[in-house]
Amino acid sequence: TEQAKIGWNFENSYTSLPQTFFKKQLPTEVQSPTTIILNKELAESLGLNTEELDTELGVQQLAGNTIPSGAAPLAQAYAGHQFGHFNMLGDGRAILYGEHITRSGNRVDIQLKGAGRTPYSRGGDGRAALGPMLREYIISESMYALGIPTTRSLAVITTGEEIIRETMLPGAILTRVAASHIRVGTFQYAAQWGTVEEQRKLADYTISRHYPDITNDTNRYVMFLRDVINRQAQLIAKWQLVGFIHGVMNTDNMTISGETIDYGPCAFMDTYNPATVFSSIDREGRYAYGNQPYIGGWNLARFAETLLPFLDDEEEKALEIAQAEISNYTALFYQFWNTGMRKKLGLFHKEEHDGLLIEELLNLMEKYAADYTNTFRALTLEQQLETPLFKSEEFNIWYNKWQKRLSQQVETKEAAITLMKQSNPSIIPRNHRVEEALSAAVTEGDFTVLEKLLHVLKNPYAYSLEHEDYTVCPAQQTPYRTYCGT
Ligand code: AMP
Ligand code: MG
Ligand code: MG
Repeated sequence: TEQAKIGWNFENSYTSLPQTFFKKQLPTEVQSPTTIILNKELAESLGLNTEELDTELGVQQLAGNTIPSGAAPLAQAYAGHQFGHFNMLGDGRAILYGEHITRSGNRVDIQLKGAGRTPYSRGGDGRAALGPMLREYIISESMYALGIPTTRSLAVITTGEEIIRETMLPGAILTRVAASHIRVGTFQYAAQWGTVEEQRKLADYTISRHYPDITNDTNRYVMFLRDVINRQAQLIAKWQLVGFIHGVMNTDNMTISGETIDYGPCAFMDTYNPATVFSSIDREGRYAYGNQPYIGGWNLARFAETLLPFLDDEEEKALEIAQAEISNYTALFYQFWNTGMRKKLGLFHKEEHDGLLIEELLNLMEKYAADYTNTFRALTLEQQLETPLFKSEEFNIWYNKWQKRLSQQVETKEAAITLMKQSNPSIIPRNHRVEEALSAAVTEGDFTVLEKLLHVLKNPYAYSLEHEDYTVCPAQQTPYRTYCGT
């Protein structure tokens, strides 16, 4: 059949969970869907036929107007702490088609974001605007290219309908691909409103899906907590190392798989400053760059609380176990972060004063308002920049100390530079480049700027001279602001 040509291979294991975890929900039909971007590389890696996906049938499926055979559309239930406040949430505008199984047996969620109202929509319209969906596409694909675990973007389509925000905006749907959409908030939902049996089913399901090695372990719930802590510590270390600011680290935006999810007001830091916040709604800086590691630990503590009934039969003992696991998080995070920072400086092995060397550099970058990415890029290229940082005497002293440390390694200078090139992206999605691409696409219907940007972002570590104009960070007149608005 025509349907089979696209190559979908759906299974719906999530529907084997108790009813309380989801509501069956079809997408709401849209007027005239048009494909804006299709991620051909991703489609192919999933075993999908890109030409067929680009047909009328394909776009109707990506719009939710035609349901692919084998899919069982649903909205997932979850709760979450939003800026510290606990709420019942759930997919208010996202609909899960199901799990697509790739030829190599990989199981991925296929979800339409912006596909219409669901029982969890509350006052929302269930829709998404073109700008934010393209933004998610750009940043998530850039994160993937940077080597950071993330959900992926398969396509963005416009719906042919306008949606009402502060102004009228073109409606769009993003097809999101994820290891799963199970969040800390899914476990919070189960702990708050589910029975212990339902909670256990969710935990066992999630373990078998994301941590299959521990499925049969008698101590599996403790191991589960430990493994989730480990993956989150690794993930947030990676964010910090490239200067990524998530912007809304609510517990419902924190996956159990360890993938980055929910690209709302996220952005990359330009000038190094731990207090950097871009999101217009984060007035107290809860999710500031320098606070992300702490928030990661806070969110994991909320996760640990949901597992208490399974950590030990005795309440007090369970609490002790949870606390012991959570207390490892900070050290674990710094271990990943320090290892990553050493690589950014071309250091192969740990030495006693490395921590100080790193700290001194970051302090100077802050003092002289240096661009985070371009400072490491210049160090990698052995370039002296005409910036206050590079011209300062303090930096000169630091630089000589670092050179001395490099020369004392057994590894060659060339090897150190290769390591640095692999660890310091030359190209990140610069805020002005993202805005430029979005504004051309949304206001002028010109997608060439976006396509060029997506192309350049595919090779962040290439250090190719060809794309040097994408490394420039123009001085900003006003602070950059991102909006959740949606
Ligand atoms: P987020 O800030 O993207 O993590 O979303 C928080 C919650 O708001 C989730 O439950 C979303 O499903 C819901 N939500 C966001 N936008 C809409 C919308 N336009 N209509 C319905 N629900 C929405
Ligand atoms: Mg969310
Ligand atoms: Mg969002």
